[in-house]
Amino acid sequence: MLIVPEREIAELMTREAAFDAVERVFAAMAAGEADNFPVIREAIGHEDALYGFKGGFDRAGLTLGLKAGGYWPGNLSKHGLINHQSTVFLFDPDTGRAKAMVGGNLLTALRTAAASSVSIRHLARKDARVIGMIGAGHQATYQLRAALEQREFEKVIGWNLHPEMLYSLEAIAAEAGLPFEAVGLDVIISITSSFDPILMAGQVSPGTHIACMGTDTRGKQELDPQLLVRASIYTDEVAQSVSIGEAQHAVQMGLIAQSDIAQLGAVINGTDPGRSSDDQITLFDGTGVGLQDLAVAAAVVDLAIEKGVAIEVDI
Ligand code: NAD
Repeated sequence: MLIVPEREIAELMTREAAFDAVERVFAAMAAGEADNFPVIREAIGHEDALYGFKGGFDRAGLTLGLKAGGYWPGNLSKHGLINHQSTVFLFDPDTGRAKAMVGGNLLTALRTAAASSVSIRHLARKDARVIGMIGAGHQATYQLRAALEQREFEKVIGWNLHPEMLYSLEAIAAEAGLPFEAVGLDVIISITSSFDPILMAGQVSPGTHIACMGTDTRGKQELDPQLLVRASIYTDEVAQSVSIGEAQHAVQMGLIAQSDIAQLGAVINGTDPGRSSDDQITLFDGTGVGLQDLAVAAAVVDLAIEKGVAIEVDI
């Protein structure tokens, strides 16, 4: 079995490679060539942590495995560690033998940013110039950096419940030579750990694309359910969107049906038209699927072997 430690990932994985891996696996899912297994995500009653497993099998890419990990909200303040902690395990689909164990922390940030970027590339208006961020935690900087590569953005604005955290977004905007201020928005990424709606239907203009990335657990919520009524909804995985994603609330309230939600992969494959007018609000409910983790982990294992940094062990 190979081990690719967390410390090697930054040197191996690029934003471009993560984008390609996630776009490819979303397309495979929509084509029926790859399946995610049901997600297990539970409050463990210790340190307010949420812990679980996301797994799947990509028959096209022959990637089988799972990501184990979760969210420890006190990690940063108590231990100086990031709040998300995870490890990806890949298995040989021909024999079931463990193939690789890969540090999953940076990969999670890169694959989550890649998912919203894939949604922006395929669904946002081509003339989008202003991007808004809701949330300024660990994931938010990765989200913004990746999103800025998808359109010719001219302005970045950010809102965060804890305004003292906004400097991190301002720094990414400055890195791209963009001003950071408050105006109308064309593309919004929400990536908070909120359990209540923070973006209301009346606050979003026609034509906006929203990548709603923070809601990945039962009970979490970032958007007013009425916003889902106004929007054309796309997701990574419909089953996750209605159970642990942003759509869970609007579906439970009977405002929308599961059949109102389409796969982003279908847009990538050209079987769904995606955005059909400049007035349409498009919404990507990014719940985070196991196949995303496996796609980036498999890519990183290949790179680690190529560069001679994978550690080989017997199990
Ligand atoms: P973090 O703890 O570093 O940051 C949390 C952010 O949420 C901060 O901006 C904080 O100010 C804000 N926040 C906290 N409580 C809030 C509230 N009640 N209302 C509004 N904002 C609030 O976390 P992170 O690593 O940046 O992750 C953010 C969210 O993204 C989490 O919910 C996490 O589970 C989720 N996530 C989703 C995916 C996916 O694939 N969709 C992947 C990774 C993380």
